[in-house]
Amino acid sequence: MTTSPRSTYLITGGSGFVGSHLSDALLARGDSVVVLDNLSTGRLANLTPHPNLRFVQGSVLDELMVDELVHQCDVVVHLAAAVGVKLIVEQPLRSFTTNIRGSEIVIEAAHRYRRKILVTSTSEIYGKNSSGALAESADRILGSPTVARWAYSTAKAVDEILANTYHKERGLPAIIVRLFNTVGPRQSPAYGMVIPRLVRQAVSGVPLTVYGDGTQTRCFAHVEDVVRALLLLLDHDDAVGNTYNIGVGDEVSILELAKLISELAGSTSRVDLIPYAEAYERGFEDMTRRVPDTTRLRALTGWAPVRTLDDILRAIIDEARAEASQR
Ligand code: UDP
Repeated sequence: MTTSPRSTYLITGGSGFVGSHLSDALLARGDSVVVLDNLSTGRLANLTPHPNLRFVQGSVLDELMVDELVHQCDVVVHLAAAVGVKLIVEQPLRSFTTNIRGSEIVIEAAHRYRRKILVTSTSEIYGKNSSGALAESADRILGSPTVARWAYSTAKAVDEILANTYHKERGLPAIIVRLFNTVGPRQSPAYGMVIPRLVRQAVSGVPLTVYGDGTQTRCFAHVEDVVRALLLLLDHDDAVGNTYNIGVGDEVSILELAKLISELAGSTSRVDLIPYAEAYERGFEDMTRRVPDTTRLRALTGWAPVRTLDDILRAIIDEARAEASQR
């Protein structure tokens, strides 16, 4: 039923936001971790040093290195990706190459050595489908391929298809997860994610930038709840061969979110509504709503989130204040 404890996990992208929290959790329960990361968006400082942690600086595009590391490990968690709407819109080629070719290399190596692999996909898969809680079978409604934003969604869909078909046709033990908006300490504000951005704006007393009229909604999950879901799936043999949403269904509008952040941070910053027009010219397109249906994950594993939005925001405000005081 479970992967035996003290396995060695390879985490690609392991010094990024989600990967570093997963690494901490695996090490804490006695497993060993090898992190492969090119430090393009991840940071070495995210990793907590541990005798059972090995860091390898390198790219998932390096086939020989990936082959060697997958061979040395028992389980692969593939998190390496170019993420963040800002990064994707500014560098769609890099995003597309890493997210398609890199994933193909990692999935092929997992198949070569028959390793269990968890492939991380995204709620971006659903695109502009805003029809309430989205189950894994919900339709993808994407904009034009000429709009840079959809490169990420398209690349991740290709990853899912690769992992799925390797599972069905070649028996690869693959699990696919779609992460909805995940937040928490160590998430960089540099690549567009709304909470780290608005929190830093509130803490430093500059206007909070809300795009459009702020009526668009999102649901946010704390990275610790997300990591717990990842571990439950990794440990459950029946998880293989399926796709799981991971997220928390509490919906908040971005304008409400900005006001809440301002209030919790005791900030005097005003909220600026930034018209979409200019961003849309640069290949951005927003989604009005994105709510996860996590029935499948809960039914299989009994997972339930424990962190609330207030709780999440307070933790990130504390982190932003600590950073500001160090400058
Ligand atoms: N957003 C915003 N101001 C910002 C960054 C993002 O209003 O400074 C909005 C963005 O337009 C979207 C939501 O916040 O409606 C979530 O954006 P994010 O990039 O964090 O994630 P997404 O869910 O769009 O992938």
